[in-house]
Amino acid sequence: MTTKKTRSEAKKKSAKEVYTLADLKHLPDLDLPIRLGVFGDPVEHSLSPQMQNAALQHCKIDLQYARFQILPNELAEALDLIRKLEFVGVNLTIPHKVSALELLDGADDNVKRIGATNVIKVEVGKLRGFNTDGHGFTRAVREEFSVDLRDLRILVLGAGGAARAIALQCAKENCERLVIANRTSEKGQKLADSLRNFFEGPKVFGPVPRLQAIRWEEAAFRFQIANVDLIVNATPVGLNRGDLSPIPTRLLAPHLMVYDTIYSAKRTPLVAAALEAGARGANGLSMLLHQGALAFEIWFQREAPLEVMRKTLS
Ligand code: NDP
Repeated sequence: MTTKKTRSEAKKKSAKEVYTLADLKHLPDLDLPIRLGVFGDPVEHSLSPQMQNAALQHCKIDLQYARFQILPNELAEALDLIRKLEFVGVNLTIPHKVSALELLDGADDNVKRIGATNVIKVEVGKLRGFNTDGHGFTRAVREEFSVDLRDLRILVLGAGGAARAIALQCAKENCERLVIANRTSEKGQKLADSLRNFFEGPKVFGPVPRLQAIRWEEAAFRFQIANVDLIVNATPVGLNRGDLSPIPTRLLAPHLMVYDTIYSAKRTPLVAAALEAGARGANGLSMLLHQGALAFEIWFQREAPLEVMRKTLS
């Protein structure tokens, strides 16, 4: 008994914090085989392994989820390997969410519209892509502010993968207004244009359009803030030490809800600015939790143990 335990402890110790493509080619013989993971570069800071492994353990699924440092030019080979190794699936993070699209065998409609995938499920040797960011965002906003997107006028900062998932979700849920501000104006305009058909309905709110792209500048923010309820930061502004809030405190107002998708700090610069202005603010941890729970549900077709997963993030 003791010998068996010691041997299994020794095996467990050989599990690494971060694996590479070379490791994927020769997966170690662990007590719990690795059949799930996150591919990224960098990936060492990903919180997904702790969250997903707690869920697997709770549900008595004898598999392990691991971090894989996969470089851009290694992605095709890595995806081919997970197909052959009969993985359950993987999460994708920077920089693979867009480039993986051409390597998939199929994808749900969300992925096609957003142009990015964050979840792959291996289905009898085929790779199917999903995107759980938008739906995760809906659940996060409901949890943080007890509101539904359909009742809100929303300003989204950014037009990258996360912003496109969030904006599409807001549109699909028929939010009252959607305003997109992006540093590169043309990209913001393109995103707004792609959502135009969702906003042809009869909801009319005075002189401001229901769907609009605006310039990334103070005067434009100042005007919009009186006409929105929720501001979402879907840019990395605030991620680096020394970053300022993408919208300064002086422009924010107490009526606002402010959601920052960044979760590296509880009080991101934007959340701090919101609280200082008397508004409500939340960081992106709740979105991380819900997009992860939705991924688990896609992989295993069963409800995710949300509270178990949440505990690993606190
Ligand atoms: P992308 O690289 O796809 O997009 C980045 C966006 O941010 C672009 O619109 C870009 O504008 C804008 N941007 C970048 N730097 C600046 C800057 N200095 N000033 C103004 N705008 C800037 O990234 P993602 O969409 O994948 O990720 C964006 C953020 O969302 C990240 O911080 C990520 O951590 C977070 N995220 C959080 C999740 C969660 O679960 N909480 C899930 C997914 C993402 P431009 O077009 O001009 O380049």
